[in-house]
Amino acid sequence: MIAMTHKRSVRVAIIGAGMSGICMAVKLQDAGIDSFTIFEKADDVGGTWRDNTYPGLTCDIPSRYYSYSFRPNPNWTHLLPPGPEIRAYFQQVAHERGIRPHIRFGADVSRAEYHDGTWRLTTAAGEETFDVLITATGVLRVPRYPDITGRETFAGAAFHSSRWDHSVTLPDKRIGVIGSGSTGVQIVAELGGNVRQLKLFQRTAQWICPMPNLRYSLLTRTALRRWPKLNGLPYRFWGWYVRYFFGKAPIRPGLQRAVVTFLSRWNLRLSVRDKQLRAKLTPKDLPMCKRLIFAGHFYRSVQQPGVEVITDAIDHIEPRGVVTADGTLHELDVLVYATGFDARAYVRPLEVIGETGLTLDEAWADGPVAYRSVAVPGFPNLFMLMGPHSPIGNQSLIPVAEDQADYATWWINQLRDGVVHAAAPTEAATKEYNESMKAAMPQTIWVTGCSSWYLGKDGLPELFPWTPETHHELLRQPELAHFDVRTA
Ligand code: NAP
Repeated sequence: MIAMTHKRSVRVAIIGAGMSGICMAVKLQDAGIDSFTIFEKADDVGGTWRDNTYPGLTCDIPSRYYSYSFRPNPNWTHLLPPGPEIRAYFQQVAHERGIRPHIRFGADVSRAEYHDGTWRLTTAAGEETFDVLITATGVLRVPRYPDITGRETFAGAAFHSSRWDHSVTLPDKRIGVIGSGSTGVQIVAELGGNVRQLKLFQRTAQWICPMPNLRYSLLTRTALRRWPKLNGLPYRFWGWYVRYFFGKAPIRPGLQRAVVTFLSRWNLRLSVRDKQLRAKLTPKDLPMCKRLIFAGHFYRSVQQPGVEVITDAIDHIEPRGVVTADGTLHELDVLVYATGFDARAYVRPLEVIGETGLTLDEAWADGPVAYRSVAVPGFPNLFMLMGPHSPIGNQSLIPVAEDQADYATWWINQLRDGVVHAAAPTEAATKEYNESMKAAMPQTIWVTGCSSWYLGKDGLPELFPWTPETHHELLRQPELAHFDVRTA
């Protein structure tokens, strides 16, 4: 498109000041666009890394690659970054880039309606109008509590893993953890042997890939601070490693899948000698069907004195603890629900209303769909970060957010140059894209018979069935023929 000399001011609303929201803000600033407001319902930046504070919280993606490409962090202390360091990193980036003044904290957007060519946002403070709406609301944000009879009768402390109650002291307590996903495993790995008693209520065993969390030496950190250009090397190396193995292994059979399978199986066999315990911890499905877990010392922890893996189904909860189907009462002081999140919430409960009055809820009645994960037909000038079918398996979500933010920025630039007034993907292009994804799903490991938060209502994975490189390529340059573009 031909750029015009007069640039108009484009008002951009970003919802969410987590990893993606901050990324979007930086991309806009880099494009010379300062007219953006970030709506954040909480009182600080950081999103999931602000909400999750459970013991053992660590990102299982190497820290050097769990960083913005534009802001390496020489100060990571470990190969896998601890949660508090990640939160501090996002706080630091927001501070350095002068993003905080753009953020309205405590501003929960309840409604966004496209009307007369603009987005009208509603918060408790009133209504405000913007030209472009960016949702950066994260993926795993809405806690899911188990539907277990008597849950509310428990007399001790009970909370979801993402709402950790730090007023509860742990070492002297009998603690129950329900759930053995990435979160439950990290909690158990940390608490095993360090509390009076720990019981893991495991409904389904999960594969765990070994990943020792090495510490970076002071020398390494000093060198990376002293010569910042060196940071590019580990970013590229760990990026290659994550994409090469975990970008490819789940989407098609081959070497990568074989290596991951081998490592997961041998990790269990070598780490757990007790055959009975090993049988309990042996999953029935294939490694990576559910999201693969990385943990250095989970198996060691569950073999500590005072730690027990309970595989009998939970029958109900009563004031003293958890009662399993065999009639045993497991008396507890603390009960942790590591039971995951509503992965299909996306921007909801925020009500988003498109140009014909259709809500996103209605448009997604059969499951969330989007054009290349970022846009939805009938919702002009709406761009989503981490929208439906983003590549969110065992990947760093930061490069994904960067690609999506670059894509949105391209369109915002068109609006600013005055060549575009509104743009939304066509129904046909969106349908074709989603059909090609569906056709690619049978190749993936996610459809091999396990149940997980990856699967949508139709039983198909809500993930991206191609490599991260393909995602990058798909978003590198908008295909104008796929858009209904309106000029002023
Ligand atoms: P999750 O993977 O959805 O696991 C939930 C666990 O709760 C499962 O073991 C599930 O059992 C169990 N569960 C749910 N309802 C239950 C019930 N009624 N009774 C008994 N057990 C029940 O949730 P998560 O562990 O919080 O992890 C979610 C995602 O967060 C991960 O997959 C990952 O993407 C992300 N995460 C990432 C990191 C990281 O290091 N990057 C760390 C933590 C989390 P079933 O398997 O039988 O359903």
